[in-house]
Amino acid sequence: MQEAMIKRAKELLADGSVDRVIGWKRGEFAYDITPAVFTSAEELEHDFVFDDFTAANVSKYLVKETAKEGKILAFLKPCDTYSFNQLIKEHRIDREKVYVVGIPGGPKLDIEKIKAKGITGVLSVKNEDYTLKIETLYGEETMPFSEAVLDKCASCKSKKHVAYDELIGEDGDVLESNRFDMVEKLENMTAQERFDFWRGQLSKCIRCNACRNVCPACTCENCVFDNPKSGIDNKAAADSFEENMFHIIRAFHVAGRCTDCGECSRVCPQHIPLHLLNRKFIKDINELYGEYQAGADTTSRAPLTDYTKDDCEPSVVHERGVE
Ligand code: SF4
Ligand code: SF4
Ligand code: SF4
Repeated sequence: MQEAMIKRAKELLADGSVDRVIGWKRGEFAYDITPAVFTSAEELEHDFVFDDFTAANVSKYLVKETAKEGKILAFLKPCDTYSFNQLIKEHRIDREKVYVVGIPGGPKLDIEKIKAKGITGVLSVKNEDYTLKIETLYGEETMPFSEAVLDKCASCKSKKHVAYDELIGEDGDVLESNRFDMVEKLENMTAQERFDFWRGQLSKCIRCNACRNVCPACTCENCVFDNPKSGIDNKAAADSFEENMFHIIRAFHVAGRCTDCGECSRVCPQHIPLHLLNRKFIKDINELYGEYQAGADTTSRAPLTDYTKDDCEPSVVHERGVE
């Protein structure tokens, strides 16, 4: 797949269809794959990477990239196309300035799950028939591919691209996903148990802002959490109130706009399952306003920015028997 992508990118650069390409390149470690912009065939041949660790969603980068002159080629996995559509809907991306090549999705790998097996000094990871052959400073290790799958891929909602100009490979289908299973478990807890769960998780937050920075729904030019007059800008939380507030405000801001791309949880250095908070909002919106998938299209009105006579009333909180 990587070779086919490089070949197509070189063709589109050479015929002038685009003047740059956004994809991925290797960072400091073999598994440390980060988004990157390429402007020449030489750069593509030398640095472009697409492998089992290419999980990062490049959609958000298109906000800044499409503000520039020229046209950019973006390689988007199925999940990334939902973020792309949502950003188009919110007028954050100029569609005319992007050429989208849809590429197959995961499952992608999570290096933290490999390290959690006590495997350190990782130099390279190869997938051979769904067994990982891991070369380390201390010798070779193996483990099943399935045990290192990234959480967001383990509960993938769709292998179908909802936006593209051309595809490399076959398109997939919307999937029956188990993504609300853990949300249901949380719903079935008592209020105290739920509070304890979230306090336990959120108290680990170091306010690095990585979840906000990576989130395709968080594209405000002036974020409330960057406002020096707020008293809460870019600093470690002083107490549990501030810890909770950052996450609750962010979850409310992206409610109805979060595509469940899973990037927030993927990048969190503290392994906080932030997606569960956003999935609770998605599940509630589905139940209270009818099934809705943010980013599935670019034209529908989101339930929380629309009004119908069937909309639920605030009393629904009591009717649902929420403790
Ligand atoms: S990425 Fe994790 S640690 Fe960083 S601000 Fe978000 S929740 Fe906190
Ligand atoms: S809140 Fe998380 S899952 Fe939702 S759009 Fe943002 S990064 Fe993706
Ligand atoms: S946290 Fe809220 S204000 Fe900040 S970027 Fe996200 S949506 Fe915008």
